[in-house]
Amino acid sequence: MLRTTNKKTKIEEEEIKGYNSSLYSIVYANVPTFECNLTQIEHTCLDRITLLDQIVKLKDSNPKGNSTSLDVQFFGLVTQYLGKHEHPSTKLKDELSHFMCRIAMCDSEEDKDWFINAEALLLNFRLSTNDLTTHLEQFTEFGWSKLTTQEFETYQKDLEYLVLTSNGKPIDLDINSFYKIPFEDVPKLVEHGKVVLKKGWAIVFKAYFRELIICTYRNYLEFAIEKVKQDKARFKTQYPEIAEILRGITRPTIVNSKLYGANSSHIKKEQIPELSKTFPLCMRVMHDHLISYGKLMHDGRLQYGTFLKGIGLSLDEALGFWKNAFSKRVTSSEFDKEYAYQFRHTYGQEGKGISYDPYSCEKIQRTFPSGKEQVHGCPYLWDSERLEKKLLELGIDPSKTYDIVEASKTQSRMACTKHFHFLHPNNNNLTGVINHPNFFFEQSKIYFKQIDEKNKKSKENSKNNNGDVVLD
Ligand code: SF4
Repeated sequence: MLRTTNKKTKIEEEEIKGYNSSLYSIVYANVPTFECNLTQIEHTCLDRITLLDQIVKLKDSNPKGNSTSLDVQFFGLVTQYLGKHEHPSTKLKDELSHFMCRIAMCDSEEDKDWFINAEALLLNFRLSTNDLTTHLEQFTEFGWSKLTTQEFETYQKDLEYLVLTSNGKPIDLDINSFYKIPFEDVPKLVEHGKVVLKKGWAIVFKAYFRELIICTYRNYLEFAIEKVKQDKARFKTQYPEIAEILRGITRPTIVNSKLYGANSSHIKKEQIPELSKTFPLCMRVMHDHLISYGKLMHDGRLQYGTFLKGIGLSLDEALGFWKNAFSKRVTSSEFDKEYAYQFRHTYGQEGKGISYDPYSCEKIQRTFPSGKEQVHGCPYLWDSERLEKKLLELGIDPSKTYDIVEASKTQSRMACTKHFHFLHPNNNNLTGVINHPNFFFEQSKIYFKQIDEKNKKSKENSKNNNGDVVLD
């Protein structure tokens, strides 16, 4: 049973600490040799998927991250699904299930995204109680390295400023409090100004070591799963029984982009301006930009285009919509020549004929880290000032805006959920957290449908009360 008490016992504290002792094993840097049977593979994989699902839900239900309570609940889940830390079989189960799930989740982008996201959360929890400096010292395979004395002295001023902005107060600088890593490996830290950039290196202060590890781990997992995917055909031939078992290991389908990709409802291009008023903020921002300036960058067209496809815009309607929106800048024949291909491609009418699904929040945030002037990506990753300005511009009152901006600092999707509740007051249907823009739209549709039905009913009632004839 999962314990939910907020109080950590002494033993639990010791156990939780002990759990994080080796970064080597918790980032699964080495592929071990396993001796196990098919049933073990199946059971451990199912347990891991359930564990990851529970961890994602745990995080979603505690966006503010009350660490004491979360640590205890997290630890309870890990013990429940992987076993007690000190038990010899736990490590085997942990590693076996992780590596097998890499194979099970490598085929589709959505599965892979979900898995990487959930594994990053698992690591985040595991790191939460540790002094991470020791981890970084033990572990250099990911390209982290210490500053040289010369670098430390040369960059002194910049480092002082970095410490001041992260700590809120100056401290005596210590060379061991900094690590450097190629800047392209940590786009989020760079984007949020949490590093000093020097000669292609991002220098990270120890306050951000956890983010550094998570960021690097995500990149590494992404790379590793891509390799697994390339090797999957050989794996299937060599281990057909295991491949068959892994076919049955699926991620929990809380949100399935494929469902949105195959939307059976139809909307017309003329409806989009009105509908956009209740779009999630990412889509609203892109829509407004498109209409004002008659342009959207390639990634924006992909993100917004697949979303519109998912809400039921057919290819013909989409071409009409985009052509009209671009008409401020390009002629009809220029549009046909330069832009139409991308939309036909998205609908599977060009190239390999793959029809693209709308992007989930996770994928949007990972694929399009937000840039200063950029309008695609997730606006809840913007700096607070820009986000606040946009929300106020959309007519959201200052106190709600404050609430949303505050939420965005810790949990972008919680901020999005607050925005949803603002646009759809007294909504009882949405109880979870937004994790897909098309889920936002679907929930919005349900909400307005219910309001329409209510209004219809009350109109009928008032007619009846006025003595009109009722036809059965
Ligand atoms: Fe869009 Fe998701 Fe960001 Fe909301 S949280 S704005 S739906 S990407």
